[in-house]
Amino acid sequence: MFTMSSADFSVHMRGCEEAGSTIPITDLPDEVTSLDDLECTCWDEVGSFDELQ
Ligand SMILES: [Zn+2]
Repeated sequence: MFTMSSADFSVHMRGCEEAGSTIPITDLPDEVTSLDDLECTCWDEVGSFDELQ
């Protein structure tokens, strides 16, 4: 469901066109604790952080 940019290690929804070259990941990194840590517009459709767990 998620993917990580190999350029800046930012986390994106899989299929995000802004992520560039990415590495698929199955879980969010531990350092991501809220939607505020996910700055890309691909997260805008996510209503709450709990939906990602
Ligand atoms: Zn994105």
